[in-house]
Amino acid sequence: MNSSRRPLIAGNWKMFHGGASGVELAEACAALAKELRTVDIVIAPPFTALAAAAHSADGTPLGIAGQNMHARDSGAFTGEISAPMLAESGCTFVILGHSERRQYFGETSESVAEKTIAALKHGLRPIVCVGGTLAEREAGKVQATLEAQLTPVLEALEDVGPAQTRVVIAYEPVWAIGTGKNAGPAEAEEAHAFIRKQLVAASPALESLRILYGGSLKPDNAASLFGCANVDGGLIGGASLDVSSFSAIARAAVAQVGN
Ligand code: PEP
Repeated sequence: MNSSRRPLIAGNWKMFHGGASGVELAEACAALAKELRTVDIVIAPPFTALAAAAHSADGTPLGIAGQNMHARDSGAFTGEISAPMLAESGCTFVILGHSERRQYFGETSESVAEKTIAALKHGLRPIVCVGGTLAEREAGKVQATLEAQLTPVLEALEDVGPAQTRVVIAYEPVWAIGTGKNAGPAEAEEAHAFIRKQLVAASPALESLRILYGGSLKPDNAASLFGCANVDGGLIGGASLDVSSFSAIARAAVAQVGN
């Protein structure tokens, strides 16, 4: 981590914890966010649990994120949800382009770019996910994949002005998501440093963007990954579903920066 960037620890609940268990977990995360003053804590519950989670977060620094959104503000798009709807449900962040959205729901880097602009327009902070597959890694194409995924987003950001610094990037190698296999610190740092280089080449102001690592981030590997200069936090799936593991990861970030 680098003291010039405030760490961010985000939990992606995916399709878990929709009801009473979601409220219980949101309350525990709200208490955690209140205690850990030097780290931003964000949770991304399912859509149906957003308003209740936002209520639990009320008066605390806990951030609430949508897991996806449509690029349009409204319209005949059955099953979709817009940036203004997320904002009125209490969201201040939204995850965009998660590999599960790309893999199962046809999300492209171009649609992620469009959504990024829509999210910023409505005051949401987009967490833009990028990362390659195992086949791309084995073919030595990690950087080419990252560049291809980032380019449409960075081009779209050119016209945005200062709001572009509200973007967060999450580096999530697909082979590490939900598999129990994480990128080692050297591999993660190489990818994060490459992403930072792409950001700075697009605009020097983007050096300040936080780049999160995601992919089987757990209490036992968090310290080594957070020790990397260009890793500014984590996007956590499985380990965010339980407050003790989520809190241990957040505390590993605090250990880097102090509280
Ligand atoms: C994710 O879904 O963004 C993720 C990183 O999942 P996990 O931590 O379970 O690998």
